[in-house]
Amino acid sequence: MAANLEEANYVDGVLSSDTAILAKTITLLESTNLQHRALAQQVLAGILPHSGGSVRIGITGVPGVGKSTFIDQFGINLTELGHRVAVLAVDPSSSRTGGSILGDKTRMARLAVDSAAFIRPSPAGVTLGGVTRATRETILVCEAAGFDIVLVETVGVGQSETMVAEMVDFFLVLMISGAGDDLQGIKKGVLEMADMIAVNKADGDNRQRAELAAADYRAALHLLTPASPTWSPPVLLCSGLANQGLDELWQQITAHKDKMGASGELELRRSTQQVRWLDAMLDDRLRDDLRSFPAVQTELDRLEIAVQQGEITATSAVDLLWDMYLQVR
Ligand code: GDP
Repeated sequence: MAANLEEANYVDGVLSSDTAILAKTITLLESTNLQHRALAQQVLAGILPHSGGSVRIGITGVPGVGKSTFIDQFGINLTELGHRVAVLAVDPSSSRTGGSILGDKTRMARLAVDSAAFIRPSPAGVTLGGVTRATRETILVCEAAGFDIVLVETVGVGQSETMVAEMVDFFLVLMISGAGDDLQGIKKGVLEMADMIAVNKADGDNRQRAELAAADYRAALHLLTPASPTWSPPVLLCSGLANQGLDELWQQITAHKDKMGASGELELRRSTQQVRWLDAMLDDRLRDDLRSFPAVQTELDRLEIAVQQGEITATSAVDLLWDMYLQVR
């Protein structure tokens, strides 16, 4: 297991871009073993001063939208430009299935054998909270190992999109055109999070339909108040398969970085994300602690029913529960 190395071995290995040590460090971060966690935090402290230097890009889209084909090609284009690219995946379903379809190396066949790229699947056997924590910390470690672009892939279902949007500088939403029903089923929340929408598979016969879909997305985005005064999310067409539109897409991402960097918004976005993350972890820890006392958990179950049946207000229930918690704590 990873913990047979010393803290300094991990830090030195990561800083010297040793891929085997990088992988071991991530395994250590993913561990739920308390001793590993403590060591992992020490390693992170050594790594932290060397982190932060990447463009962090989140990529989402429903299964079949072409994410793996896109990331494979986009990653190759970036390494050809001299960048070092890490691909991480956030796939909470892997905790149920025991494995992840995201970040699977066979899905990105060319990038998987590119020495300037590093692909890491979603950790298995942990909750979304656990995956999120591990991925956030993995971003830092990859940056310290010299990766200047970190792609975080997730599926366009459930909470994982929000989690990923909260850990990146730029959130890219991949879409495909359907048969005139493009805007159906698109969650407003996803549009609000998007820094760019790319209509993928805009090749061959699909091109015209993709253009129509792009116009629909532009109209939908116009109805939203932009999250930033400096950036209006563009809608582009691309084809991961035909390697079309990816250069422009990268230009837009760097333009976003330059503009948001100059306005101070990038720094603010990262620092706000950190504070929200602290709050979220604190909430989780308090909740877990509260529920770790069987008597409190039993009382909570009872009070939930009482609140549901209107026998007691939610506020009184919280007061009762809190008093009990303070007593048993
Ligand atoms: P994922 O599930 O989002 O990772 O999607 P995949 O990358 O596995 O692609 C799903 C299917 O769409 C595969 O059959 C791909 O060959 C196809 N596909 C992916 N990208 C493109 C594209 O840009 N154009 C076209 N025409 N097909 C694509």
